[in-house]
Amino acid sequence: MPVASKAPEEWIDGFLFVGNHLALDFLNTRPILAEGPKELLPDVEALVRWLVASGVLTPQKARILSGKWRDMPQASVFLRQLLKFRERLRAAVIRQEARLAVSDAFIAEINSLLKHHPGLIALQRKGKKLELEAASEPEEPNDVWAPIAIAIAELLSGVSPGRLRKCEACILHFLDTSKKGSRRWCSMNICGNKIKVAAYQQRKRAARKSQRAKRNRT
Ligand SMILES: [Zn+2]
Repeated sequence: MPVASKAPEEWIDGFLFVGNHLALDFLNTRPILAEGPKELLPDVEALVRWLVASGVLTPQKARILSGKWRDMPQASVFLRQLLKFRERLRAAVIRQEARLAVSDAFIAEINSLLKHHPGLIALQRKGKKLELEAASEPEEPNDVWAPIAIAIAELLSGVSPGRLRKCEACILHFLDTSKKGSRRWCSMNICGNKIKVAAYQQRKRAARKSQRAKRNRT
């Protein structure tokens, strides 16, 4: 199953990969950056590029599909549905993180996607380990549901909710794969430094306040 993003870099071709899981990297395609909310999947071409960056499509296949899907009305319809679905996924992930039950409606939606868009899976050797990965490549836009639905099914069933977390400083979600399980933010570059600077300023303000209080007492 396409569980972990295939590349460890944070940004690939303009897309964020901090989730450690395909389902979360998909969820993170609408981050809030310094300049405000940013839709990383504004059109079908961007979607195809994201599918390559996330390892779902090979670049060769993407070149063929990009030309085919660009002016296909059903590709734009699919993208609109996918982006609406992303918000329902967000709600399910937030519930999972809060240890609340995922809604029956969302489970039914995933099961329906798995039924209508079944994907091939295959064993792949990863070093000494064997992993299940999505093995079918999309031909039609709707085929993209298969790897997405498989990844989400795996996220909701195979991942400990305690390891599923939202960044403390932004709306990005990630699977904490650190040894200690103490990861707090999406990435050191995006939010880690921001939090550290804020904590430092807070400490400085508190120190100034207590100095003033001391002076007022004497
Ligand atoms: Zn963040």
